[in-house]
Amino acid sequence: MAPNETAGLVRSKLEERGYRARAVPIEHIAQLKYEIEEWLRQRKIDAALFEKRLSRFKFDVGTTLPGACSIIIAAAPQPQRRTNFHFNGQTYSVIIPPTYYGDTDDRIMEVLQNILKSYGYRLYPTVLPEKLLAVRSGMAKYGKNNIAYIEGLGSFVSPRAFLSDMPVGSADWLEPQAMKECEKCRACLNECPTKAIVPDRFLIHAERCITFLNEDRGEFPEWVDPAWHNSLIGCMKCQLVCPVNKRFAKWVEEGEDFTESETRLILNGVPLERIPPETVHKLNRCYMLDYLGVLPRNLRALMK
Ligand code: SF4
Ligand code: SF4
Repeated sequence: MAPNETAGLVRSKLEERGYRARAVPIEHIAQLKYEIEEWLRQRKIDAALFEKRLSRFKFDVGTTLPGACSIIIAAAPQPQRRTNFHFNGQTYSVIIPPTYYGDTDDRIMEVLQNILKSYGYRLYPTVLPEKLLAVRSGMAKYGKNNIAYIEGLGSFVSPRAFLSDMPVGSADWLEPQAMKECEKCRACLNECPTKAIVPDRFLIHAERCITFLNEDRGEFPEWVDPAWHNSLIGCMKCQLVCPVNKRFAKWVEEGEDFTESETRLILNGVPLERIPPETVHKLNRCYMLDYLGVLPRNLRALMK
């Protein structure tokens, strides 16, 4: 079977299941790296932000998967999750945005692995600028809020990247494009509490974005109004107001429920090794173990 035919079949098999995927030659990793570094050189992104966040990308994939020749970017529909914390006789229901849960990633990886295996190819998860890759490959378009939107799924997804030894031949590598819906819309710009989204440039001021601030440790800057906090981590304001997400904005599924004593442990910043296994499992199931260090501050902000 010709390389493009296999890649096309993989894509349509995923689409049959409601997922999306694109495959591009592995050489594009160098272009992703160049593009991100260009943003930094042209001071379009904050250097501190680059250090803290963007440096996690694995652009050097040399020995990760011998024979790797393609990158697959894939996404599955993902809801918001309502997570309950009980404290002092009250229940605080807070939202974890779609992008943090990894259960659909695990599912999509399993599905992809099975499909590729049937053609004799392998798959290995990796960390790349997923949004940029999704847009460049034609799987998504940018919103004014710099979030990647996928046709039919909106931004209720969390795109994940994989290396594969499946050859892809030629593939789209498009200039980053904004959605046509953004042309006459300013809803996210008006809604963003920190004014991170600005009319005079395409890249948002990520260093002002609540997501950047509340994923990071330390005190919130003084200019952050406590009323702006809206999610246990991240921020949903610009996504919920976006007309492209109209079908999904109310898609909230029940997540974990933390008892009074568990909530107290979290609020007190008790280290992982002293948290009972059952609570660790709950934190793991809501993909919050990596964020344990910021949860006390974020949860307190929402409880105020
Ligand atoms: S709210 Fe409007 S401008 Fe913002 S991303 Fe959505 S469609 Fe585009
Ligand atoms: S995630 Fe929140 S703070 Fe960041 S751009 Fe959107 S509305 Fe603004």
